[in-house]
Amino acid sequence: MSEKMRTLTEPFKIKMVEALRVTTEEYRNEALAKAGYNPFLLKADDVFIDFLTDSGTGAMSDRQWSGIMLGDESYAGAKSWQHLEAVVKDLTGMPYVIPTHQGRAAERILYSILGGKGKVFISNTHFDTTRANIEFVGSEAFDIVCKEADDINAYADFKGNIDLEKLEELIAKYGKEAIGAVIMTVTNNSSGGQPVSMENMKAVRKACDKHGLMMVIDGCRIAENSYFVKQREKGFENKTHKEIAQEMLNLGDAFVMSAKKDGMVNIGGLLTLKDEALSVQCKNLLIISEGFLTYGGLAGRDMEALAIGLQEVFDKDYLHYRIRSTAYLGEKLRAKGVPVVWPIGGHAVYVDAQKLYSNIPVEEYPGQALVCDLYLKGGIRCVEIGSVMFGKYDEQGKLIPAAQELVRMALPRRVYTQSHLDYVLDIFDDILEMKNRNKGYRITYEPQFLRHFTANFEPIK
Ligand SMILES: *Cc1c(COP(=O)(O)O)cnc(C)c1O
Repeated sequence: MSEKMRTLTEPFKIKMVEALRVTTEEYRNEALAKAGYNPFLLKADDVFIDFLTDSGTGAMSDRQWSGIMLGDESYAGAKSWQHLEAVVKDLTGMPYVIPTHQGRAAERILYSILGGKGKVFISNTHFDTTRANIEFVGSEAFDIVCKEADDINAYADFKGNIDLEKLEELIAKYGKEAIGAVIMTVTNNSSGGQPVSMENMKAVRKACDKHGLMMVIDGCRIAENSYFVKQREKGFENKTHKEIAQEMLNLGDAFVMSAKKDGMVNIGGLLTLKDEALSVQCKNLLIISEGFLTYGGLAGRDMEALAIGLQEVFDKDYLHYRIRSTAYLGEKLRAKGVPVVWPIGGHAVYVDAQKLYSNIPVEEYPGQALVCDLYLKGGIRCVEIGSVMFGKYDEQGKLIPAAQELVRMALPRRVYTQSHLDYVLDIFDDILEMKNRNKGYRITYEPQFLRHFTANFEPIK
């Protein structure tokens, strides 16, 4: 924190407002009970501060909204496509650009071609849709995040990095023929939104060259990652965020992006490639399942807004506000004595619910208890990332807990102001008063897959 600490002001003013409904605790009690104590099942207008996800929940700018009006809806070769293609080529340095309706559609296309039975993918950490698309085609996915990430309390600059030793071991174990690709997720979403260094990315490139492997960059948050590189990595102080992103993306053979993150739009995805033959295969799948080459699953207006968003996201004042406001929330929580994953990542703050509610046994889901308390006390919605999401059962039906019981508060882009964050900090004062609580929740209904989305709970009395 070398910079002078001034009030973090939003580098925008507000032209249009969307009302938030203020509810009482009594009302929220009823709403949460109706939702089976699962905030995913709440109505959005019963939520005051929505930290469920940063995906597609951001606010577009005046320039993007004017782009919506300029959207060219021609079926083929639309002007809006040409704008988008030019921006993406400039950013990635890759000649083949494929638009899709979301990141996972780009993943499905790419990994159904690179994957298949017997194939192996290696990543710093596969995001869940990435892993799902890889496993769906019969391949295996290995996560090998660096050792620094193991200790959630210890500071390290680049906890999103891949473990280079383990990478060599896995390559030696499975062999070049079996490896579909090495995938670098930046920032590393499933590992706390932690950044990846340029040094690590270059080392992966080198390893891929040495063994003749393909390197894919899942760059949903490439601009946020560039902010960290500029701040923390030697030699990048004087480069612009965009130059850093260009340098990093140029290292890859392919780039996959959910535009709902750093694309600053509410829907959209991208796949870009260096290899022509592979691009032809991908385009065939695109036409079968998404749409024609020059719109993928998107409307012309969506592409226009994305072309603008991909430029706005590299604005230095925006990026400073973005990363520092996430850090503001996280650092203040830590100062209050709330245990958080450290250092604070780019898009979200993760609270260690196991440590906060240390008297609630894991079988009673301390993360779910915190998620419910945050809603009841403050109308704040966030997501449990612990044994509700990742827990399994042994043969006797006993819970095998997840490695950690975390709660994620993801910040939508350009949506909340600092006073909203101060309000959240106030609510945590109430939470801290309850930290000796010793009863959690039990599951009363759960589906077979992805239970966190639709499970029902009840408080243990
Ligand atoms: C969100 C996300 C995806 C999937 O993108 P969708 O647009 O939600 O389909 C893939 N990878 C990462 C790292 C993500 O954060």
